[in-house]
Amino acid sequence: MNERDSDAVAAMLRARGYRIVPDEDDCDVLLLNTCSVRDAAEQKAIGKAGYLLARKKHQPDFVLGILGCMAQNRGAELLDRLPDVDLIIGTQKFHRVPDYLDNLRAAREAGIPVGAAIVDTEAEAGSQNTIRDHLEGPVEKVCAFVSIQQGCNMDCAFCIVPTTRGDERSRPMADIVRECEALVARGAREIMLLGQIVTSYGRRDYAHTGNVTPFVQLLEQVNAIPGLERIRFTSPHPRGFRADLADAFARLPKLGEHVHLPVQSGSDRILKAMRRPYGRDRYLEIVASLRAARPAMAFSTDIIVGFPGETDADFEETRRLCREVDYDMAYVFKYSGRTGTPAATMEGQVPEEVREERNRVLLEDLKAGSLRRSQALVGTVQEVLVEGPDKTGLRFMGRTRGNRATVFEAAPRLVGRLVPVEVTRASVSTLYGHLAPAGAGLQSAEAAVSL
Ligand code: SAM
Repeated sequence: MNERDSDAVAAMLRARGYRIVPDEDDCDVLLLNTCSVRDAAEQKAIGKAGYLLARKKHQPDFVLGILGCMAQNRGAELLDRLPDVDLIIGTQKFHRVPDYLDNLRAAREAGIPVGAAIVDTEAEAGSQNTIRDHLEGPVEKVCAFVSIQQGCNMDCAFCIVPTTRGDERSRPMADIVRECEALVARGAREIMLLGQIVTSYGRRDYAHTGNVTPFVQLLEQVNAIPGLERIRFTSPHPRGFRADLADAFARLPKLGEHVHLPVQSGSDRILKAMRRPYGRDRYLEIVASLRAARPAMAFSTDIIVGFPGETDADFEETRRLCREVDYDMAYVFKYSGRTGTPAATMEGQVPEEVREERNRVLLEDLKAGSLRRSQALVGTVQEVLVEGPDKTGLRFMGRTRGNRATVFEAAPRLVGRLVPVEVTRASVSTLYGHLAPAGAGLQSAEAAVSL
């Protein structure tokens, strides 16, 4: 989501005549878009900002702005640590950045002394509708991000996002579909729908039709766009996976065989303390319903280790759940206390060394599972959407329907196309292979999984 917000600001600045330079050492203005989910992310951003501000000694006109969640969370208080920052812009004000920058630069050019930093972290009604149509000219990426909502109304005991991103607000469905159509017309072949809790999309604005939630209605409309090959979405909430969404996976062909389904913990006791509105049985039921809809379904998740009160037995429940689901991938977070959240003052805070050790153990478990699932695909032919050159620039990369990164030799004309790739080798997170002859039967991941 931050990448998407940064792209939007960059596009607005480009439209004003600013140029995006590839090397941060060459810029006159640097905007840091920040995250507050864990304290480590904030400390990293503060460290980076401090380092960058030293540049003002030899480049007095250099402008440094801090955008996004940390700006929202800490506001003007950031100036105590970073007195020379020029802009502090919150999560509902990204669209104001070009005006603020223009004003700042115009004042400086006119020789008007600009004393204090510009700080704007107010809530703004309708700001969800300003994050749109961010791409000018041809789309550079085959996979485009489309923001469908902002904010979050959940009540998770650990999470600062409702504070930094505000109340849940959805964009109108027709606007989203128009933006997707425009992106496809400009070359996008995959759309990633983005929001804090995408499965809650439009629940206060649109009626359920025949038990179909507004989110699934949106998926149906995006699925109908000609020329679009794939739809993905993140982040959903397990609460949103009712029968209509499992059914959508069975009937909408552009939804791939991958779901990111944040679980947070495998222990019912900890889930309750986290204020997550499901238990492990319900979670496993959702996984089963999605695998019933698409047998090859791959899952990824978010897990927090060391939440206050988490015992060794709770942690073992999480390990057991991971084995049962058989995830392709997981983001494992060491619990980080966030001021103002209920969990920050709960009893039973888990010592750092214990969080560290549980993090290590779980990552080891998950790595072994991911490798086994990757290796099960060796020898199959997968449908891959070609995204562009790989990191080395020597080969090409794309993703399977199950969201596995795949590296192979191809030609630039294949970028944006679906191609069959025979998998010959697999690492934990990447498949390697070669283009299969035209007409080679796509052996689905289903077949591999059932082997
Ligand atoms: N939509 C997701 C859900 O199901 O609630 C939340 C997305 S959240 C922005 C990204 C992830 O950060 C969460 O799923 C959680 O695992 C992690 N996270 C949030 N707060 C955290 C905290 N205080 N400490 C550690 N990890 C945290």
